[in-house]
Amino acid sequence: MNIPFNKPHLTGKEAHYMYQAVAEGKLSGNGAFTKKCQQFFENRYGFRKCLLTTSCTDALEMAAILCDIQPGDEVIVPSYTFVSSALAFVRAGAKIVFVDSMKSNPNIDAEQIESLITPRTRVIVPVHYAGVACDMDGIMEIANKYNLIVVEDAAQAIDSYYKRRPLGSIGHLSAFSFHETKNIISGEGGMLCINDERFIRRAEIIWEKGTNRAEFFRGEVNKYGWVDTGSSFLPSEVIAAFLWAQLENLDDIQSRRKHLWELYYSNLSPLALSPNSLIALPGLPDYATNNAHMFYLVCNSLEERTALIKHLKDNGILAVFHYLSLHSSPYYTDKHDGRELPECDRYADCLVRLPMYYDLKDEEVIEICKLINNHASDN
Ligand SMILES: *Cc1c(COP(=O)(O)O)cnc(C)c1O
Repeated sequence: MNIPFNKPHLTGKEAHYMYQAVAEGKLSGNGAFTKKCQQFFENRYGFRKCLLTTSCTDALEMAAILCDIQPGDEVIVPSYTFVSSALAFVRAGAKIVFVDSMKSNPNIDAEQIESLITPRTRVIVPVHYAGVACDMDGIMEIANKYNLIVVEDAAQAIDSYYKRRPLGSIGHLSAFSFHETKNIISGEGGMLCINDERFIRRAEIIWEKGTNRAEFFRGEVNKYGWVDTGSSFLPSEVIAAFLWAQLENLDDIQSRRKHLWELYYSNLSPLALSPNSLIALPGLPDYATNNAHMFYLVCNSLEERTALIKHLKDNGILAVFHYLSLHSSPYYTDKHDGRELPECDRYADCLVRLPMYYDLKDEEVIEICKLINNHASDN
């Protein structure tokens, strides 16, 4: 057997739409495919305004500019996340105040946030790990009380919900990723969603190199020029064309991934429920849905995880661990305030992700589960 961890799924229409973009001779950004993709998201999920970006990392760069982060401002971020959740704010001079994960899942522990707020706190960045919602009521309540901006890192959270509200629609701003490892892909790609009206005009300007080009093309101003800071955050139409082929198949992609996720869950549940089990299954709070971005297990120790990964690897299956704690990363460790974040460290040591992609076969999932069950009975 030879099962990779991820395989990008093609719906079949990507090259067709890319060719169409080429044939129409409009290759730079903000053309017909870009607008179609943005409208799709605005209509389907009720995001107030969407702007495609070259990556989720870039969408977060835009968010940091919109939040007007100044040196010394503080931004609250979980430690168990990808660097991009913190990076843009760090580049703007912010101090990152890292928060531990919950016991029940790797998301930020909302109950720990309030005690970390100071007069310099400006932003909270909830990250919906594995597409599972953070405690958004808890987070929005604190944000409203202290007048903070909430930027959802929804990189993994497409088509997932918190109490029936789409993730990415709750915070003032949110960022999605279409990197080839996500559910919906364009190779590299991302999107900024602006839910708070007051950021929309400036977001469009920042998106187009600090110019009011978008207003000009809508006929709202009679010349355009340099009016603010910004960068070239918009992707080419060729990328948007690729993305459109994926969006047309979103329901199919999601239902296949959810089927595979359920298959893992049902085949591993007996083991997870057995006494002194080697593994725990992902915890899904009542308020959250599962978008099948990822299927992960939590082992009891680093040693047990290493042995499980090796056992799978020896049988041709690539299972991988995930984040190392950002608060103790080489870049941030001497800037961190020294608080211990034990749950985050536990996920860094014990969490393992199993292969999950559209073209994975049912038999392959069953075989992987069999290998895990056999490994458990040998230990
Ligand atoms: C993938 C990911 C990102 C980065 O996305 P890019 O599009 O590669 O920039 C940021 N945050 C989280 C939580 C991610 O999973």
